[in-house]
Amino acid sequence: MPIIEVRDVNFKYEDTTEYVIEHLNLEIEQGSFVCILGHNGSGKSTLAKLLNVLYTPTSGNIVICGKNVLNEENWKIRKHAGMVFQNPDNQLIATMVREDVAFGLENIGTPHDEMESIIDSSLVNVGMLEFGDRAPHLLSGGQKQRVAIAGILAMLPEVIIFDESTSMLDPQGRKEILNVVKRINKEKNITIIWITHFMEEAVEADRVVVFQHGKVAMDGKPLEVFSNEEEVKSLGLDIPPMIALTNALNKEGISISTQILTVDDMVKEITNKYANNHK
Ligand code: ADP
Repeated sequence: MPIIEVRDVNFKYEDTTEYVIEHLNLEIEQGSFVCILGHNGSGKSTLAKLLNVLYTPTSGNIVICGKNVLNEENWKIRKHAGMVFQNPDNQLIATMVREDVAFGLENIGTPHDEMESIIDSSLVNVGMLEFGDRAPHLLSGGQKQRVAIAGILAMLPEVIIFDESTSMLDPQGRKEILNVVKRINKEKNITIIWITHFMEEAVEADRVVVFQHGKVAMDGKPLEVFSNEEEVKSLGLDIPPMIALTNALNKEGISISTQILTVDDMVKEITNKYANNHK
């Protein structure tokens, strides 16, 4: 059974006439890492807000972890499916990192004697244990996002939704977050919905879903989606750097495997070819 089912959802904001999500159907498999792409205004963030029950569908419905958003209390859904937002500064409210991680636990009534060990393990999972007594506002953007993730991990979620959560970070911070998220996806089998405009992040996902006008325009494994260069470009997106490089080299007559997604893949491919040519 899918962990998220979006069933024929239409959505428009109050006081507007236009639907920004139209007849959307989407099923997300438990444990998968799904990347949502689409040009500005295609409805990605609106989908995230619907999944986090900040809004409810105008028609149709959404079932998350077996709970229907139309008739379940918001906090019960958010406990199972937490969200990390774009701006790290808007998510941390306490004066100490540990208090921030405790915040959600207090809201769901976790007994105080259980809290300390949950906070410890959540901070360990994001590599921030030694920052527990620091003031959140003194951390880097990447560290703040890791604390925000720890706050959600503490609630033992089944799903985490990331709405452009790396877009305000420097390249180092972006890498840190993506590595933490890939690890918790694999080790804890937590389902990841990853909204981004960075194509090099999309190649790390199991599945890429491309939005246009609030509908799914493309859906498949990263290589399946990005091999269709013309269609991806027509949807206002770039081709991930290593796939663009592969295509360009092949066009120049330098034969490179079309299975390459990442810098590591490319280094392996070129190293092998180079070694074979110099035997
Ligand atoms: P994306 O995340 O893909 O950039 P959004 O979901 O933010 O797209 O926006 C989809 C559409 O909904 C856009 O046309 C945007 O202008 C509109 N929109 C977003 N938020 C609101 C709002 N609070 N009120 C009215 N319209 C909105």
